[in-house]
Amino acid sequence: MADEAGAPPVDWERVAAWIERYFEQPGAYRVMPSVRPGDVAAVLPKDAPERGESFEAILADFERIIVPATTHWNHPRFFAYFATSAAPAAIAAEALAATLDVKAMLWRTSPAATELEAVTMRWLGRLLGLPPSWTGIIYDTASVAGFTALAAAREALGLQIRERGMTGRALPVLRIYVTEQTHSHVEKAAIALGVGQYNVVRVPCDDRFRMQPDALADSIERDLAAGIRPLAVVATVGTTSTTSVDPVRAIAEVTRKHGVWLHVDAAYAGIAAIVPEFANLLDGVDLADSLVVNPHKWMFVPMDLSALYLKDESTVRRAFSLVPEYLTTSETGAINYMDYGLQLGRRFRALKLWFVLRHLGAEGIRQKLRGHVALAQEFASWVEAQPDWEVLAPHPLSVVCFRYAPAGHDESDLEALNARLMQAVNESGEIFISHTKIDGRYALRLAIGNIRTTRADVEHAWHVLKREAAPETSLRGH
Ligand SMILES: *Cc1c(COP(=O)(O)O)cnc(C)c1O
Repeated sequence: MADEAGAPPVDWERVAAWIERYFEQPGAYRVMPSVRPGDVAAVLPKDAPERGESFEAILADFERIIVPATTHWNHPRFFAYFATSAAPAAIAAEALAATLDVKAMLWRTSPAATELEAVTMRWLGRLLGLPPSWTGIIYDTASVAGFTALAAAREALGLQIRERGMTGRALPVLRIYVTEQTHSHVEKAAIALGVGQYNVVRVPCDDRFRMQPDALADSIERDLAAGIRPLAVVATVGTTSTTSVDPVRAIAEVTRKHGVWLHVDAAYAGIAAIVPEFANLLDGVDLADSLVVNPHKWMFVPMDLSALYLKDESTVRRAFSLVPEYLTTSETGAINYMDYGLQLGRRFRALKLWFVLRHLGAEGIRQKLRGHVALAQEFASWVEAQPDWEVLAPHPLSVVCFRYAPAGHDESDLEALNARLMQAVNESGEIFISHTKIDGRYALRLAIGNIRTTRADVEHAWHVLKREAAPETSLRGH
């Protein structure tokens, strides 16, 4: 097909074949590339070309320069952070969405994108067991969805911040309540919303890293007595370090008593609620005001697609709707998604969610999630069976925090040893893991969530860990 701008033709078939081959040999690459900062930029020209180049030349450089310097998140031996992956049907949907290239801001600029978003959000909400009256809206990430929910919570305080701002007048101190385990995006939202980092209050956790509702109640009551306005509480279902689950129902009793907005961050673990055995993860969520889950994290939808569910969507509209003359429309009863956030033009994200849900089916997704949890439990049992290794936190889902802990080392030795071990493991290129700190202890973290990960991949991870740990023990020389 000749290109409109007179550029040489695009070889669609080669692209399709390349994608197909990539997934046929998922283990053909190093998971983490062996490149240093600056390596990629150094081999690229200083300026963009004046004349169009052949598509073949561009694709050849993609294979030669880009692919070998990529960290392969779609690799079945990627176990770092939260392991995510893209289902093939969703990749096809991304290409089709880019082809249509709609800006889904007004219903009239994108009727199908708008209505498919509403429908897929209802489908997902039903699978998660959310109240049918809640409204789902798609954002790029949980961080932005969380910011949006907290902006709505700020608006709901009735302090006219939208109109009058927060400076030059007497306003109470506003506070957001979280725990040490809460994801850092909440603090970023506090920065952007003018709340300030000091007013992100860390409520103590119990010994399983869960927010203590009594401590939350104390904190809020003390602040209220001092004239401080609680803006919101953020509870987490599946924290980033250990996947601990805050007691949402008990927390909701506190927030309801004081009329405080409750946002539930279930970015990773919330998806598991579509599996009946894990439906109780979202127990009490019906008492919250907003909830976020990330289909781009554990539902095989490629980056990015985050779903924000709201008990009352009008709160977000009140915070963000602003319609200039050139965007006024005449349709009644139509959703205009530009009313729900900072973004005006929006990608047609719902298409890939629709493709995934239809291609895998809810049961296909459930089966994968069950498999991931089972593999993580098996991995934890292997670690526990070895005297020199230990599991460092409860592992209710598909993430295991652990470390190599041979006898005769103090904490700082163990930290250095496990940091070296992680580096050696990752430099092998065979697997990729990450780390965290749990109660000050350095922990390795193995996350399972890739649609292509099998038991053999997890066995290999364990093999690589033990292999790279062996020299550490002999180094001790006694
Ligand atoms: C991953 C994660 C986030 C951030 O998700 P993004 O979509 O990358 O912004 C927030 N909260 C929790 C609990 C997470 O696991």
